[in-house]
Amino acid sequence: MNNRKWADKIRKIEPYVPGEQPQMKDIIKLNTNENPYPPSPRVKKVMKEFSTDKLRLYPSFKFEELKNVLCAAYGINKDELYIGNGSDEVLALCFAAFFNSDKPILMADITYSFYDVWSEFFNVKYEKIPLNDKFEINRVDYYKENGGVIIANPNAPTSIYMGLDDIEDIVKHNESSIVIVDEAYIDFGGESAVGLIKKYDNLVVVQTFSKSRSLAGIRIGYAMADKALIDVLEAVKNSFNSYTVSVFSQTAAAECAADIEYFDECRKKIMKTREWTIGELDKLGFKTLPSMTNFIFTKNNNIEAKKLFEYLRSKKIIVRYFDKKRINEYLRITIGTDEEMEKLIEAIKEYS
Ligand SMILES: *Cc1c(COP(=O)(O)O)cnc(C)c1O
Repeated sequence: MNNRKWADKIRKIEPYVPGEQPQMKDIIKLNTNENPYPPSPRVKKVMKEFSTDKLRLYPSFKFEELKNVLCAAYGINKDELYIGNGSDEVLALCFAAFFNSDKPILMADITYSFYDVWSEFFNVKYEKIPLNDKFEINRVDYYKENGGVIIANPNAPTSIYMGLDDIEDIVKHNESSIVIVDEAYIDFGGESAVGLIKKYDNLVVVQTFSKSRSLAGIRIGYAMADKALIDVLEAVKNSFNSYTVSVFSQTAAAECAADIEYFDECRKKIMKTREWTIGELDKLGFKTLPSMTNFIFTKNNNIEAKKLFEYLRSKKIIVRYFDKKRINEYLRITIGTDEEMEKLIEAIKEYS
């Protein structure tokens, strides 16, 4: 049977397409902005010692330990923090919770491509505002009336960071809507807007354990905002699935967050490798956008990005290419270990 008589009753939807997770052996994987270093050794220890008896019960949604560590680190209260199953889920819940207006929400034309997918999914109207020719956000574009604002800072896939003054200015000009700042990459050189949540009750700052804390596999993300907004987020979550974060993930994340020394060491290493890589690419005639992330966005006017992408793939080096207007001359390359980046540069030299 293949009548599909139900076709007009089911959802039609264009999903977000994540970077591939190839199963080939011995690849250098620089396509999804994962951290090249393992998580804190404290994570390994706590997972080894983890008592499986704990799995019998539902997880706590108080997140005692994890909230203690994060609240101390960011100087916020527990009721100003929402913890969820990866920041993609936290952001999706934010769309459901905060973008509930007839007016369009505002986002950049080039940004995290999940934003328009969520807009479609939750039936939120949206307007894409072009970045300038340097791929920067022009803050005055966000002064007009809107149903909300979503900004990735630093932006992806451009890697460009917008100063805190500009963020504050946008938040200030939008008192009657919610401004979400997605800080997935903030730990690689930028300054977080979290310090502003006590001053502005319309600001939501979202971060993740997937990039700077090497825990993409464990799925932890969080939002920080005024208690009133966190309450709505909790209510939306509890209208959908109360236990979104496993006991296992909570335990590992709390240990990870407590190891500040290791965290600082890793992100500094990545920033240093980033600067080295940009320098080497400069010598080869590439133009790389100023990066405050664990990836770079780079192009070479004499090399076709798509061809280089395919060549690197044949050498088992996987980077990201977007076949999209304005950015199809660029490659997005995640910063790996020094050794991985040396191999990347060697491969590019062979090609050019
Ligand atoms: C990686 C990324 C996320 C999602 O991270 P998870 O916490 O792994 O779901 C969100 N926003 C941006 C801009 C990202 O690059």
